Amino acid sequence: MFLLLLLCRLLLQADAQDQASVWRGNDSSERCYYSFTIPSPVETSCPQLSGPELEGLKARLGVLEMLVSQLTGKNLQPPGGHQGGGDRAQAELQDALNRAVGEKSLLQGEIERLKREMKALQLRMEEMRRETDRLRNRPCPQMPAVPPSHPQRDRAPTRPFEDAAWQYQSPGFQELKAEVTEVPAPDSNQDNAGCGDLLSVGEPVTHRRADNIAGKYGVWMQDPEPVSPYGPKMVWRIDTVGTEVRQLFGYEDLEQLSKGFPSKVLLLPDPLESTGATLYRGSLYYQRRLSRTLIRYELAAEHVAARRELPHAGFHGQFPYSWGGYTDIDLAVDEKGLWAVYSTSKAKGAIVISLLDPLSLVVRRSWETNMRKSSVANSFVICGKMYTVASYSATDSTINFVYDTETSQGKAVSIPFKNKYRYNSMIDYSLAQRKLFAWDNFHIVSYDIRMGHKLASRRKRDI
Ligand code: CA
Repeated sequence: MFLLLLLCRLLLQADAQDQASVWRGNDSSERCYYSFTIPSPVETSCPQLSGPELEGLKARLGVLEMLVSQLTGKNLQPPGGHQGGGDRAQAELQDALNRAVGEKSLLQGEIERLKREMKALQLRMEEMRRETDRLRNRPCPQMPAVPPSHPQRDRAPTRPFEDAAWQYQSPGFQELKAEVTEVPAPDSNQDNAGCGDLLSVGEPVTHRRADNIAGKYGVWMQDPEPVSPYGPKMVWRIDTVGTEVRQLFGYEDLEQLSKGFPSKVLLLPDPLESTGATLYRGSLYYQRRLSRTLIRYELAAEHVAARRELPHAGFHGQFPYSWGGYTDIDLAVDEKGLWAVYSTSKAKGAIVISLLDPLSLVVRRSWETNMRKSSVANSFVICGKMYTVASYSATDSTINFVYDTETSQGKAVSIPFKNKYRYNSMIDYSLAQRKLFAWDNFHIVSYDIRMGHKLASRRKRDI
């Protein structure tokens, strides 16, 4: 009420003096406000602001408010007459937003394209890695019987694996040709019994295909005289592709191997080289990587029981089989014990056979053959006789040579042998199964064999 009376009085005074004025406007929150101006009686001599001047100030204030609202992001409308400027600003903002959305869409497209390119590059890298692996393990061309120059000559003399005894002389042995000099006569009463000569090899039976590239080459084996806790059915396997081959997989039996379910995985203390490992009397025997050191690893105790160099043996590609793969030292077990098949500088690449002490790994006795190791695909030993396979890749190959350690005589034979998957990297005699075990291009296979005691000898010449 007091305010109302005051307002009335002020209006009356303003009216009486005819100089009072009132304005209406909007504040920043869009509320309407009224302003009254009444000259003080004691200040009538002061210059009086006129209405238009205040209107000008009000307009300028409105512009300022609009600018502030744009700067602060608030959608404030300037008082009267400035709606068009707000619309323009909003339109500009909308344009900027549209441009940003468009650029975002383009960037997303670019990201998708780069992702596709990265995936393609990864696939190419994987292909190149496989190709590199394939080339690294591809066998060198076979050498002629009397090579004009031996590969060893081209190597730097400082090569750490070089055997100083190597003299680069022409090897004094002959290569076997595909001559059949002896024809075995089957003796049906002696099949698969006792020690005799190998008469024939059956068709390969496939047990398992390796899951990945690490299993392109490998070795699998059974212990003919297992030691507890491992039983006679236990099957062991090593994938040998790679530089740090240390895993030994154990399977309860052949069926579990076929299913791919190992029951034991052992980590070898030293990495392995070659596909020449073997099992005997509870121990794994293998060649330590980048060395001629043989290791006897006890499976039950999981420790190295013996470690010894195989004197003068070539390693890491010095005297491999024809397929390569650092198959310099090939260990084997038969009815007579533990064998090493390899070559030395002294033998000039010819196959050397050594009978080893299974406990100490000391060489008990050695035989030097006239068969060049790099000219054959692999070897196995049965009843003290070493047999070589002519080709690792030919589907229809042969067992082309046998060396009898009892007579110290070698001779050519021709027993059909099939490389079903055309890349046979390991062939061994399994004394436990009396079969041949092999690893053919990712595939774990076995072959039945027939043995006999008699040979109808029609020898043409000794090798
Ligand atoms: Ca072998």
